[in-house]
Amino acid sequence: MKPYLKRAWAEVSLSQLKTNVEIIKNLNSPKTKIMAVVKADAYGHGEEKICRCLSEECGIEYFAVSNLDEAIAVRGFCPDAEILILGYTPPEYAHEIIQYNIIQGIVSAEYAEILAKNISEPVRCHIKIDTGMGRIGLKHDTPEKCAEEIESIMHIKNLSVEGIYTHFAVADSNDPDNIAYTDRQEKFICDTYHILISHGINLPHVHFMNSAATCYRNNPESTLSRAGIILYGLHPDISLDIPDGLEPVMSVKAVISHVKTVNKGDCISYGRTFTAEKELKIATVTVGYADGYSRLLSSKGEILVHGKRCKIVGRVCMDQLMIDVSDVDAKSGDIVTLIGKDGNDQITADELAEMYGTIGYEVVCGISKRVPRIYID
Ligand SMILES: *Cc1c(COP(=O)(O)O)cnc(C)c1O
Repeated sequence: MKPYLKRAWAEVSLSQLKTNVEIIKNLNSPKTKIMAVVKADAYGHGEEKICRCLSEECGIEYFAVSNLDEAIAVRGFCPDAEILILGYTPPEYAHEIIQYNIIQGIVSAEYAEILAKNISEPVRCHIKIDTGMGRIGLKHDTPEKCAEEIESIMHIKNLSVEGIYTHFAVADSNDPDNIAYTDRQEKFICDTYHILISHGINLPHVHFMNSAATCYRNNPESTLSRAGIILYGLHPDISLDIPDGLEPVMSVKAVISHVKTVNKGDCISYGRTFTAEKELKIATVTVGYADGYSRLLSSKGEILVHGKRCKIVGRVCMDQLMIDVSDVDAKSGDIVTLIGKDGNDQITADELAEMYGTIGYEVVCGISKRVPRIYID
């Protein structure tokens, strides 16, 4: 039996994941624990293997996901983990939240009321504060008013409040105005937490660091660092360096199916957007936009063949694309690298993202289901 079809596949390095975790642990103060953000199938890396590795081999105790389905899946892989749902869960699923011992993010007082209405045991939760992201959470002009609303939510029967948290909008920027904005967000949540303490309320958790904050403005007041993209070795923002040693966990590879010589004037792919200006050697590669390799990379992207960059010619198709291999010794059956290292060169998801106006997050999350994840070392 062959383990998987060698057409297009993603190699996920668990040893690199472990290295990244060690580096992140060293960025954090001893009081701050990593909350591994594994939403969206662990950013496309495959939640089961990533969660098991993080929990069994890296000692990670806290996980964050976007919804109840993801939370229940993570519970299956990590029976003892603390699992926080960052986003909305329809309140009629309160029983499942309790049954699987999940912690729910509370987006508003109204939501807290409805969630706790039809249950007979407490539902665990962290209250989300909107300090400037403008997405979800309690929104107030002052930390005093915010603390007041938190206290009133804490009086709701069958709601067990264990923490408060917020999310930064621009922690991945070193523009002074953005830094000041993040400073204000951070001060607001910390002040709110201190007011609660002064009222005798000692919540176990206050957390606000994402990957960017973990790298650039690590603060020991945050009991958890909600690390997402840096776990997977990518940049929160491509313009800022990340700490040495953090390297991508995922590579994506495919195969050359066909090599041919085309003449001057010959067209390649749909739409006839590419016409050869001279004789060229063209290879067809077994990957396309249905695998998550964006069509926006048509006549733009590059692919590593035997360590050399080869340009995509013409439009990326659903399942295939063509590259110019005039300068390399390419033949049918050769493995090529769309994302990852080959020889001395490397193409990162961040680099591809930059090419078509998105972020590395979207590139790795977008590698589709059809692409098997192969776990190495
Ligand atoms: C996705 C998410 C994170 C992780 O963000 P990264 O930039 O990947 O570290 C943290 N907190 C919240 C609320 C999120 O939605």
